[in-house]
Amino acid sequence: MKILNGIKVASIIEKKLKEKIKKNNLKPKLLIIQVGENKASKKYINFKMKKAFQINIEAIKLKYSKNIDEEKLINKIKKNAKNVDGLIVQLPLPKKYNTKKILNAIPLEKDVDGLNPKNNLITPATARGVMDLLFYYKINLKNKKVSVVGKSYLVGKPIAELCLKNGANVKVHDKLTGLIGSEKADILIVAAGQKNLIKNQNIKKNVVIIDVGINVLTNKKIVGDVDRKSVGKKPSAISPVPGGVGPMTVISLFSNLIDILNKNNK
Ligand code: NAD
Repeated sequence: MKILNGIKVASIIEKKLKEKIKKNNLKPKLLIIQVGENKASKKYINFKMKKAFQINIEAIKLKYSKNIDEEKLINKIKKNAKNVDGLIVQLPLPKKYNTKKILNAIPLEKDVDGLNPKNNLITPATARGVMDLLFYYKINLKNKKVSVVGKSYLVGKPIAELCLKNGANVKVHDKLTGLIGSEKADILIVAAGQKNLIKNQNIKKNVVIIDVGINVLTNKKIVGDVDRKSVGKKPSAISPVPGGVGPMTVISLFSNLIDILNKNNK
């Protein structure tokens, strides 16, 4: 069984981005907005800041208290967006905010996460990460049966749309439909956020599995949505958690940022 190594593929993309920045003399500027004190968010932001530094991208973090009101936050996003090439609002936001409305405030051309619901210029970072991982390992989607588990507008839906664009026959599963049919898929992409969801009986022999899920166990260990013990060696390939889609998502937001800058330079 092949391991689809997101750390390795992301580092190859990282090297190419660094070269592009140098060659085109780009001075990318990224703003990361954090609202409130979510511990996981803090960790992800630190990781993104560190990665940005390594790629020669200037990253600035702005942090607001969870007490800032929605309109004020929207104004801050709009105002600060003017001074940078790309802007990320780290999710999840505290519950009182309307996430769609906040993401809507990010100018489309600076939305490097690709999460503004109206954005058809920029591919959402996780979906791009999944595709780049598949492309690197030469896993062709054309005419393949693909099951996507999860259809959130931030993760599952854009992944399913990209699979369709690449010629796959796509079946989307959610909590209501359940997993029926996933056992017929040639490629199974799981983004449900439910540990041990995918078991042996939910997959076909030699399926390729992309595990997008991130679940934090009580002992702080991070696992995906696939029950690795149960599926055993039945898949032909699988992306691990951690070390699969996670690093691909992070590098994709930088790929999106450099694409924006290259477009503006032309
Ligand atoms: P979400 O809660 O918004 O959506 C989950 C989706 O999965 C929903 O459509 C829901 O109906 C479906 N679902 C849940 N339980 C199911 C079940 N038992 N059977 C079938 N479908 C089921 O979550 P999200 O924001 O889309 O994120 C999904 C997962 O991906 C989370 O674990 C999140 O942490 C992870 N994630 C990972 C990355 C990464 O870089 N690896 C990036 C973003 C999100």
